[in-house]
Order: sequence, then C-alpha cells, then structure tokens
Amino acid sequence: MKKLILFIFLGCLVIFYGCSTDLEPNNKTAELYPEYKDSPDSRKTQSDKSQANNDSPNAEKTVYLTFDDGPTSATTDILDTLHQFNAKATFFMLEPSMRELPEVVDKIVEQGHSVGLHGVTHDINHFYKSEQSALKEITAAQETLQKITGVRSNLIRTPYGSVPYLTKSYREVLDSNSFKLWDWNVDSRDWSLSSDQYLDTVIGQIEELGNAGVKPIILMHDKQNTANHLSILLTYLSEHGFQTKKIEENTQPYNFNCYQRCHRISTQE
Ligand SMILES: [Zn+2]
Repeated sequence: MKKLILFIFLGCLVIFYGCSTDLEPNNKTAELYPEYKDSPDSRKTQSDKSQANNDSPNAEKTVYLTFDDGPTSATTDILDTLHQFNAKATFFMLEPSMRELPEVVDKIVEQGHSVGLHGVTHDINHFYKSEQSALKEITAAQETLQKITGVRSNLIRTPYGSVPYLTKSYREVLDSNSFKLWDWNVDSRDWSLSSDQYLDTVIGQIEELGNAGVKPIILMHDKQNTANHLSILLTYLSEHGFQTKKIEENTQPYNFNCYQRCHRISTQE
C-alpha cells in the first residue's frame, strides 16, 4: 500500500513539473510588442527578458538614450545635462550638420558618448530612392564623421525609422557593408510635443516595457525643447534604478519587423 501511495505521489510530481516547463513566461512580450515576434532578434530580446526577470528588484536596469538629427545648437545643453547625471547616450547624426558643427561632434566623442549615422538629406524621396542611394548617404556620413573625429562608426538609424521603406534588399545591402541598423521601442514624440509633454510619453512607455522586462531604447531629437527638460527624465531614470548605456558596435541591434508593411518608395501612390 505504501509503495502504491509513493508511486502515485511520484507520478503527480512528474506531471506537475512537466506542465510547468511548458509555460512560456516570455509570450507576453511578443503579444505586447509584435516587433519582437519571429524576428531574428526575438530570441535575444526574450532571453534579455528572462535575464531581467531573474534580477533582484534593486538591480540596475539598462536604458539606451538616443538623439537624432544633430548636431545642432542644442547639443551642448544636452551634453551638459548628460554630464551632470553621469549619463551616456548615442547620437545619430546628419552629414551636413556634422560639417557645420565639427567642434560639437568632437565634444560628443570626447565626453564618451556613442556616435552613429543618420544619412545626408533626411528626405524620404532621396534617401530611400534605391538601395544605392541609402548606402551612399550612410557612407558619406560615415566618412565625414571619421574625418572629424577619427571614429569609424557602423551604427546607423535610417530617417523616420526602418519601416516602411527599408525593404529586405535595402537591409541586405546595408548589412553586407557592415552597417548595424537601430530602431527604437520608445518614441518620445519630442518633435511634435511642446514643453515637457514628451516626458509623460516616455515615462509611460518605459513603465510598460518594464512590466515586460524589455530594455528601453528611447528615440529623442537633438533640439532645444528636448534639452530643456532632459534633466527631469534623467532624474526619473536615476530614481528608478536605470543605468544609461551607450550603444556599442557589438550591442545586439534592435529593428522593427516589416511583416507586410515594407515597400519601396517608388511603389507608393
Ligand atoms: Zn531623423
């Protein structure tokens, strides 16, 4: 009789553990953030999430701050605020602006931030005209950045993000030229929101991502309004245990997934 009870008990244990291992706690991420699902980066992202879930509540969390469209007259203020908080960021810069303000580009590098490329024209009809036009703009920005700072960056963010105009063939051309494409998962909308309104937008999205255990990659722009209120965001991040990190050449890139949405610029309308 004792043996029978022991047998039933062991049987129950096997069934219980068998069911437990079928549970996939990361599925929620794919539901909340469809870009992650089925993308080549999804495994990385989901393992990041498992990692995040294993961390103790007080463990430092990573956030990536990114600033597009610079350098501008606001960059120095952004740099001063970052310095004040000992924060690091990544600047995706435009080629003509770099030529206009080379001393600012130098300052970004000197202060230990990461530098990336955002093309030349920032015009959809020019940049996305063909695979070669996109490559040419990125390469021109790469060369100018290297001439100014000596840094050869392969980090890129295409104008307005990779969806919908960066089709598979564009991605392949950029990839075969060693460029690493970066999109974002937090859109500050700082280009359209006035005063400090962008902060609520950012903080709301960070909290949503935090619930899913995903590292925020925040899209901001190199402009005065963003600079004016940046210290409030950095205070929030610091009070909530976030550590800012710059994007490195070997950081696993995050890209939007095309699904059915990507198409060539020439096929539009
Ligand atoms: Zn831009």
